[in-house]
Amino acid sequence: MSEMTLSVSTWKYGKDWVYSITYDEALSDLARFVIPTHQALGVPGHVEVVAGQIGEVRNCGASSYNGMKHMSAEELHGLVAMGWGVGSHSWTHGIVMDNPKLELLESKEAIAEAVGVPVTVYVAPGSNDNLTPEVQEKIREYGYLVGMGITDDINRPDPQDLLWVNRVPLHERYWGVFDGYYDAYKRIRQAQEERGWIVDYCHCPLEEAVHPYKDCTEGHHRQRLEAVVSEGGTRCWYANPDEVVDYRALRRSARLAPVEGKPGAFRLRLDTLPPQVRRQELTFDLKTYRTPETVAVKVDGAAVGVSPGAAGTLHFTASVRDDTQITISTLTPGGSL
Ligand SMILES: [Zn+2]
Repeated sequence: MSEMTLSVSTWKYGKDWVYSITYDEALSDLARFVIPTHQALGVPGHVEVVAGQIGEVRNCGASSYNGMKHMSAEELHGLVAMGWGVGSHSWTHGIVMDNPKLELLESKEAIAEAVGVPVTVYVAPGSNDNLTPEVQEKIREYGYLVGMGITDDINRPDPQDLLWVNRVPLHERYWGVFDGYYDAYKRIRQAQEERGWIVDYCHCPLEEAVHPYKDCTEGHHRQRLEAVVSEGGTRCWYANPDEVVDYRALRRSARLAPVEGKPGAFRLRLDTLPPQVRRQELTFDLKTYRTPETVAVKVDGAAVGVSPGAAGTLHFTASVRDDTQITISTLTPGGSL
């Protein structure tokens, strides 16, 4: 088996880069333009729920979005059933360290109960002032796997941790000294080159942007997703951020080693995996000159399909656990094992 080397893929399915998009405030009007655009293109989204406003007409702080309806538990259930994810955007959209137990812990629990899935993503309300080191410490303590702010950058494949995830604003205008305008192709080339993860952020694109510095129009929103899909093709993983977070946690804790004296056998350890990680599917890179037809892979005794990647690389994706056993053997083309 010296002709083959096995490693864990950077991203699921052996993709080169990742695209996600998040919608702060989880407004019901996403059903008008945004959700149909997602359905037309086959890209999942992620909504950031204000726990104290579920099913209500929004009325917190001095927001441009007050007066619009926050999604109900039923609407959120519908999104989850389509493969979307849900995050906590606090309880009151105020200063979270004024009452971290309510804003961070109780919001997480209330949203999980309303929607029926665990919540592992926290999205800072207002500004990055709600993602200070103190907040990051609290969200770790309360069982989140990730904290997201608003920083216009991609996320690299190997960050120190996930408690500060950058999000790219998708707005009509950008304010302050860095005055600027919408661009459908923002950061895509960079994500391809650095094998990064783009997490877009906006609120609720409609015919006109609700606020040009906080949102884009539905036309620009559709153009953005079309640009991502046309540039991403089959090389991009279009992903619900909850799944990306789980995959990165899995990859980070995975230790893969050959089994001594058993050519083609490998053992995977996941003993440091955080218990909140629900999706335990991992993709592997198999470096070999062989074609998929001449390789057989078994993971914990079950045969797994192998697909071609870039020249010299095959991929397979399988459910794994701590102490998973992988065996790779070669086949004679047209023959049997
Ligand atoms: Zn917000």
